[in-house]
Amino acid sequence: MTSKRTAVMWFRRDLRLVDNPALMAAAVLSDGVAPLYVLDERLIDGPSASDNRTWFLMESLRVLDERLRRMGNRLHIRAGRPEEAVPRFAAETNASLVTASRDYSPFGMRRDGRVKANLEGAGIEWRACAGVLAVEPEAMTLASGRAYEVFRPFYRRWSAVEGREVLDAPTPLPAAGTFETGDLPWPGIFQRTATTVLEPGEEAARHRLEQWAVDGRSRYEADRDRLDRPGTSRLSQDFHFGLLSAAEALGRCDRPGDEAFRAEIAWRDFYAHLLYHRPELLTRPLRPGLEGLRYAPAGSLLEAWKAGQTGYPVVDAAMRQLRQAGWMPNRARMIAASFLVKDLGIDWREGARYFMNHLVDGEPASNSGGWQWSASTGTDAQPFFRVFNPVLQGKKFDPEGDYVRTWIPELAGYPGDRIHDPWEASPSDQAAWGCVVGREYPAPIVEHAAAREAAIRRFRELKLPKEWATGA
Ligand code: FAD
Repeated sequence: MTSKRTAVMWFRRDLRLVDNPALMAAAVLSDGVAPLYVLDERLIDGPSASDNRTWFLMESLRVLDERLRRMGNRLHIRAGRPEEAVPRFAAETNASLVTASRDYSPFGMRRDGRVKANLEGAGIEWRACAGVLAVEPEAMTLASGRAYEVFRPFYRRWSAVEGREVLDAPTPLPAAGTFETGDLPWPGIFQRTATTVLEPGEEAARHRLEQWAVDGRSRYEADRDRLDRPGTSRLSQDFHFGLLSAAEALGRCDRPGDEAFRAEIAWRDFYAHLLYHRPELLTRPLRPGLEGLRYAPAGSLLEAWKAGQTGYPVVDAAMRQLRQAGWMPNRARMIAASFLVKDLGIDWREGARYFMNHLVDGEPASNSGGWQWSASTGTDAQPFFRVFNPVLQGKKFDPEGDYVRTWIPELAGYPGDRIHDPWEASPSDQAAWGCVVGREYPAPIVEHAAAREAAIRRFRELKLPKEWATGA
């Protein structure tokens, strides 16, 4: 008689049954699977943690458990350090194999290294599978062995890599036995601060993808930067928690008109690969020579930015949306980030941390990548003298002012052609439109033209490579 083989599937950022190569490996290579999630308090309480993200995670785990139960299996919850909790659970379930989706962050790689060592020390096999990204970093290195640091050549190569096959959910998924399930923190213990977060769980995410494939994506190229239209997929939290795989989404969006959307999925891989190769993406300017860049003290200017009280309506609308929805469109993130680092002169790391504390989709690689791009400290060719003008950005991407009206009710009475620079309205118009600048809504906390000059001066103080420092 052959003995039965048990596999533990350790879920992390892949909280789905469909197209989950690690889950499929556990199912195929064993007679019974014991699904596991480890509550690691560093991710729930650390400086980058977010109540909104934790709430979304807990609810998505509940949905995953329900789906597993419908298949006659269940999710097991353990708390503690994974390097102890995972081997202990493997011993408890008598498993000879643990599978997981590969993690590419410095934190994740260190953690997985320790888990692997402890498992192998106990004679248990560890298998980390693809599943989080569309393309693995190893498929993308240059002949020199270095990583791509500029998006365009990265994207050309990325587009030529053949994607992996999209997998069905493994059925059946026999349970390995009956073990203590462990408890998820009860509903309500994690309160989100945002009021309008999308529905968690794999089914809701797939429904969003279906809707997007049917009636969203055809307008993407035209509308993706419009703040006043729902022009983007709203799938970022689903990719972040792996409720959907990037491979599945790419498989649904493969018409010639989907190029712009596919390029955004490539940006996600680009930043994940960059972090994999250059962990300092999270903490230091990637561009050489910028360590000495001067920053303004954070203080009250930072607080005004966080509260959506800068006096620049499009910036304030973005920041208020972040608080209320735990999400902002990409254009709004770029405008808000540029304003903090260029107009206010504040260190991008302050802004990155604040975004992480509120975003449901908060992802260290994409967030720091987006911040370094906005701060002109990243690897891209974004020149430091290109500074977003918040009034022009508002007029271009929110021409009628509907985005501002949605998030700043004080300005609801303003017409579209004055809503982005309300201080320019005459006192009688301000009174007639129900919002006097300096009373119901703040006057601008800095003057943009002067702030722009000051930002450029701060860069010019440094010794910068000639080709990057010329212009303007
Ligand atoms: P869509 O436009 O529909 O794009 C589809 C998917 O592509 C997104 O869900 C996302 O996974 C990916 N994507 C799109 N744009 C980017 C981009 N510029 N960089 C990397 N991936 C991208 N994205 C995050 O997922 N988490 C973050 O923490 C994050 N922080 C950001 C911070 C700043 C300062 C900036 C400028 C951008 C940040 N982004 C982040 C990227 C981008 O703004 C969001 O992914 C996007 O707004 C999510 O909305 P969507 O799903 O409707 O996007």
